[in-house]
Amino acid sequence: MIEFKNVTKKYANDITATDNISVKIKTGEFVYVVGPSGAGKSTFIKMMYREEVPTSGEIKVNKYELENIKSREVPYLRRELGIVFQDFKLLPRLTIFENIAYALQVIEKTPEEVTERVNRVLELVNLVDKKNNFPTELSGGEQQRIAIARAIANQPSILIADEPTGNLDPETAEEIMDILERINQGGTTVVMATHNSYIVNEYKHRVIEINSGRIIRDEEGGVYSNEK
Ligand code: ADP
Ligand code: ADP
Repeated sequence: MIEFKNVTKKYANDITATDNISVKIKTGEFVYVVGPSGAGKSTFIKMMYREEVPTSGEIKVNKYELENIKSREVPYLRRELGIVFQDFKLLPRLTIFENIAYALQVIEKTPEEVTERVNRVLELVNLVDKKNNFPTELSGGEQQRIAIARAIANQPSILIADEPTGNLDPETAEEIMDILERINQGGTTVVMATHNSYIVNEYKHRVIEINSGRIIRDEEGGVYSNEK
């Protein structure tokens, strides 16, 4: 569950990245955040995982009221979230297995549990056979599947993805979407920022459209056209 109440974010240069945003995303939803570059999508998303702090307004993520959260509680908030980026952000010196295991060891699991979990998420993204490879030995689409596997290894209730298909060709983007759909069908909330109109129109979900920091449309099963 994510709830924004009158959330404004001004950066130090006085740019208003989000302007009085109020919105509620319920558990289990799949939501696209769309809009042109510079609209405020990343800022909106970054505030959900406390990468950016609002200038004013209230944000609730699961049981956490972010305006009252203490620094030492932020890691607990983040354990309830999985985050996926456009550029994958895998650790280049670690194998695929180690990249995913690393995320789990941070939260005190036994070696047996770690191995079991890593294998389970690798099966979900159908890349068990790559577990001893290094990230650069994989294609972009495969690296993104690994990044998704890592993001869900801790069984987060919410998966946040910022342009997850931005660096991928259309066919590979569809593979990523099929995985995100499956994760969502398992009950995980998915919030995905994108300007991939093909994906938004092909895999129909709620569309929140942002322009100049404001929500200008919020529509179930909405479409998107980013033609200029
Ligand atoms: P989007 O993800 O839709 O491209 P962003 O949230 O990245 O939009 O950016 C919204 C606005 O805030 C833009 O004008 C951008 O230049 C500005 N912005 C983003 N991050 C920062 C920052 N760290 N400092 C100053 N301005 C920023
Ligand atoms: P995205 O396309 O994912 O929104 P950007 O390329 O806009 O990402 O931003 C990349 C990084 O630069 C982000 O961490 C963002 O906060 C920062 N950034 C974006 N715009 C500005 C800006 N005008 N001034 C300072 N930092 C910025």
